[in-house]
Amino acid sequence: MAEVESFTLDHTAVKAPYVRLITVEEGPKGDKISNFDLRLVQPNENAIPTAGLHTIEHMLAGYLRDYLTGVIDCSPFGCRTGFHLIMWGEHDTVEVAKALKKALQDIVNATWDDVQGTDIKSCGNYRDHSLFSAQEWCQKILSEGISSDPFERKVVD
Ligand SMILES: [Zn+2]
Repeated sequence: MAEVESFTLDHTAVKAPYVRLITVEEGPKGDKISNFDLRLVQPNENAIPTAGLHTIEHMLAGYLRDYLTGVIDCSPFGCRTGFHLIMWGEHDTVEVAKALKKALQDIVNATWDDVQGTDIKSCGNYRDHSLFSAQEWCQKILSEGISSDPFERKVVD
């Protein structure tokens, strides 16, 4: 079986919340795609409940694109401690961490009308959303600060 980088990371050594560059992949024509680990809560200590995580996912999809160019996808980890962010090109973790901070702040300030894709036609589990939970968790994450390094606390402004 192929070795997957994410499973070689020592999840007991990291200090969440942080942004980590997992890999930069180069396509046959030289295009580069970056994959980031947006770790919102400490692995094996916390996990964001599914309804809140689902609402954060819907909102990051819009807000991250407001602050970063080249976003391809942002999807939650199965362990519910954070998200993969896939982007065209190469980007600094400080730039991504600052954008993530602004996006989480936008979630905290949002109302239900700001949440995209919450009806039966636009979501695969539209009943499983919680803006209340999303905002509680985003507030906690922001109060801890987002580091641009996974192992050392380098909290961005
Ligand atoms: Zn959905």
